[in-house]
Amino acid sequence: PPAGAHRFSAVISRIAEEMAARDDHGAPADYIPMLAGVDPRRFGMAVAEPDGTVYGVGDWQQPFSTQSISKVFALALALSLDGERIWRGVGREPSGNPFNSLVQLEYENGIPRNPFINAGALVVTDRLQALTGDAAGQVRELLRTESGNAAIDFVPDVAASEAAHGDRNAALAHFMASYGNVTLPVPELLAAYFRQCSIEASCADLALSAGFLARHGVRADGSALLTRSQAKQVNAVMLTCGTYDAAGEFAYRVGLPGKSGVGGGIIAIVPGECTLCVWSPGLDRRGNSVAGVAALDRFTTLTGLSVF
Ligand code: GLU
Repeated sequence: PPAGAHRFSAVISRIAEEMAARDDHGAPADYIPMLAGVDPRRFGMAVAEPDGTVYGVGDWQQPFSTQSISKVFALALALSLDGERIWRGVGREPSGNPFNSLVQLEYENGIPRNPFINAGALVVTDRLQALTGDAAGQVRELLRTESGNAAIDFVPDVAASEAAHGDRNAALAHFMASYGNVTLPVPELLAAYFRQCSIEASCADLALSAGFLARHGVRADGSALLTRSQAKQVNAVMLTCGTYDAAGEFAYRVGLPGKSGVGGGIIAIVPGECTLCVWSPGLDRRGNSVAGVAALDRFTTLTGLSVF
């Protein structure tokens, strides 16, 4: 669509210009070699309206590695299939520790703090795999259906690269298995988790796919994925835990439920209004996209929209 055609077109065009003028872009994640080579100056931003209209600027149609953004969709599926039971194995408090931290697990009997740190995401994937037999496939299917893009897929090289550097996640999974808080054989669980994280999708795909969180649980076809209350719960956990150990800073600067991934993407929800997705692969030391956080900060500042 031509610039100016949609309600936030002018705002996001301005933000893209501002981001292009930045000289600090952070550095792409280096612990997954497949992700390390991406140009940190790339930037895309998409807005999806509740009616399914989507528009964007820059690299908004460029697929990137969703990584931890996939955890939101896994949690939504687990909640929809399993209801409150999921919270027996995982908490919903911010951790204040890095995404791959082990330290709190021993004090808390193998129950991770929240579903968005790696340990908690492993519990969710374990449960989703036990319920469906194909956790990663379910997440991919949800993204395909909600975005209308049947080309969304896993990237086997990214999953393999994570597996090859997966000692930390294996340690988390084994540690929780020792408490009986994950049930699958650890290699099967890790394979499902790495596949789920390896899904590639664009800002347009992810903004559309997260639309149910702005529509109070309602999917693109009008059916309910989550109850209104469950959609509120997922948004609340995103606000408090969605950006690693920088969730307080993200709430302060952006004021929206958001979830980042080390591929450089961030989704953010304006409940009742729209969903946003930004991508820029340069990360800060906590693993959040530098330009991504800055762009969302500018969006809520320029529009006055936030949950506050
Ligand atoms: N697959 C990544 C890991 O488990 C996800 C990290 C992230 O995006 O936070 O290390």
